Amino acid sequence: MSDRLAGDVAVVTGGGAGIGEAACLRFAEEGAHVVAVDWDGEAARETVETIERAGGPAGLAVETDVSDEAAVESMAEAVAEEFGHVDVLVNNAGIRVDPKPVTEADEASWDRILGVNLKGYAFCARHLIPLMADEERSDASNTRDGGAIVNVASVGAGWARPGWSQYDATKGAVVSMTRDMACDHAEQGIRVNAVSPGWVITDYHVGDRTGEEAEQFVAAKTTRGGHDGNILQRAARPGELADALLFLASEESSFLTGVEVPVDGGASVV
Ligand code: NAD
Repeated sequence: MSDRLAGDVAVVTGGGAGIGEAACLRFAEEGAHVVAVDWDGEAARETVETIERAGGPAGLAVETDVSDEAAVESMAEAVAEEFGHVDVLVNNAGIRVDPKPVTEADEASWDRILGVNLKGYAFCARHLIPLMADEERSDASNTRDGGAIVNVASVGAGWARPGWSQYDATKGAVVSMTRDMACDHAEQGIRVNAVSPGWVITDYHVGDRTGEEAEQFVAAKTTRGGHDGNILQRAARPGELADALLFLASEESSFLTGVEVPVDGGASVV
């Protein structure tokens, strides 16, 4: 345990699994009160219970579908009631839809993926930024004036690959939105950055595959020359993304805003 986020309140969407869960655990190790937001309420509660069982700071689990603005507003009210303010928001809850060309993509699938991957990020920012920018709160335990937002995008934001137009469009939009949000909220002392992961071993990709089958599946994708090949020729562990999120959430990145940080083993440069 160290104290890079000591006393901070960090809201992490998709905190019940994968990258979001790893970020919750890592942030708590650094002293943050973690709010795990997930539409799988049980998974979010498990994340917070794991932290508290290990003696970490008190947290909060909130069952919320981030694509439902009324639900996001209620989540923000619950956070305000419990902690009074927010220092860090990690917009991470995301989905993908079955890859297909736009000629086969129907309106329902567009609504679904835009609702979670883009509007969900905007809704959380809309309802949590007021809790970051509250000038009346005491900053005694914090080193920053406003806060830090990290939007989880994807290497797909900058790639051309067949069948991924829907997912990649949402991630490209997240990167664009990140730059503009950084401009809009700089005066409130809020930095806004994006992280673009390459392949990360989570349920999201690996699905029901386990053990050797999962390893072979990931290796086939990440080996150089493979579909998502990278220089390191392996997938990331969720904890490696959590470390990058921690850097952007903490004062260590105090002069970074509006940028997209690829955490992809070099995939974006091969
Ligand atoms: P995951 O599926 O392992 O976990 C996602 C979590 O988000 C789950 O707990 C899920 O219940 C929750 N969630 C999904 N939709 C939600 C909603 N509408 N409201 C609230 N919670 C919701 O996924 P992951 O691999 O950890 O991915 C996290 C983020 O990273 C996503 O935005 C994804 O697009 C991005 N990403 C992942 C990879 C990868 O290789 N895993 C690569 C690039 C980008």
